[in-house]
Amino acid sequence: AFYGDSFIDINDKVVPIDERGHQFGDGVYEYVKVYNGTPFLLDEHLERLEKSALNILLQLPYSRQEIKDFIQEGLRRSGLQNSDIYIQVTRGISPRNHLFPTNVPAQFAMTIRSGKVVPNEQRKQGISVMILEDERWANCFIKSLNLLPNLLAKQKAFEHGHGEAILSRDGYITEGSSSNVFAVKDGVLYTTPATNRILHGITRAAVIECASKLNIPFKEYDMSEDFLRHADEVFITSTSVEVLPVSKVESITLPDERPITTALAQAYSELYATNEAHA
Ligand code: PLP
Repeated sequence: AFYGDSFIDINDKVVPIDERGHQFGDGVYEYVKVYNGTPFLLDEHLERLEKSALNILLQLPYSRQEIKDFIQEGLRRSGLQNSDIYIQVTRGISPRNHLFPTNVPAQFAMTIRSGKVVPNEQRKQGISVMILEDERWANCFIKSLNLLPNLLAKQKAFEHGHGEAILSRDGYITEGSSSNVFAVKDGVLYTTPATNRILHGITRAAVIECASKLNIPFKEYDMSEDFLRHADEVFITSTSVEVLPVSKVESITLPDERPITTALAQAYSELYATNEAHA
């Protein structure tokens, strides 16, 4: 792991009491997957980190190249080929006060852990999802540390036997608690428009590109809850789950055949299998 300006043991207790990250959630983060030793779509993730930081008026303490160098060094130290990188930047360490501290550097933190893999069985079967009210703020395009509404929704869905919570605002699907949502109806691929209501997922963008290459008709569209329930196919995307089929929306079982989901999952896995080409 890395905290502030140096590499540390991941179990070290290093975060000061007055770190604004844990007192206020005053920071932003990224989550990057490493395939075959190379971080996948790293520039896209770092660009989003820069955008998130800018939108909370936070100045990143390191340049993009410096962050890339820390990542390379961290990967070398970890010895891992397939791993998950978590990066967070907070507004630093200063006695608790809602006002921004002055002349306090932002704090950079990173962990690198063995890559989490969705079990094959689950990938084949698909997960079931529960639609819940989106109780988040107006700027969900910022990857902010404030994830309480996401956690509460995910936990509730889990306690009802579902694998993901799909959030809905004013009757329209926004996204998952930690994923973007796609649906297929009559051969057309749909996903929620990339507005302030959702995180502009890196996987979402990669999947849209795959769809274009495969000549799958695609539309950004505000999907109603019933649109999702009556879709031919539904899947979620994220850096960690990649393209994951949804088999059930609450009590409604979706069709077993998922040709478009399967094609897109395949195309996405080919993208990261040839990861080096993008490095
Ligand atoms: N939406 C939310 C709320 C998320 O937390 C995430 C990922 O963590 C995503 C979407 C998917 O984003 P990405 O594909 O960039 O991982």
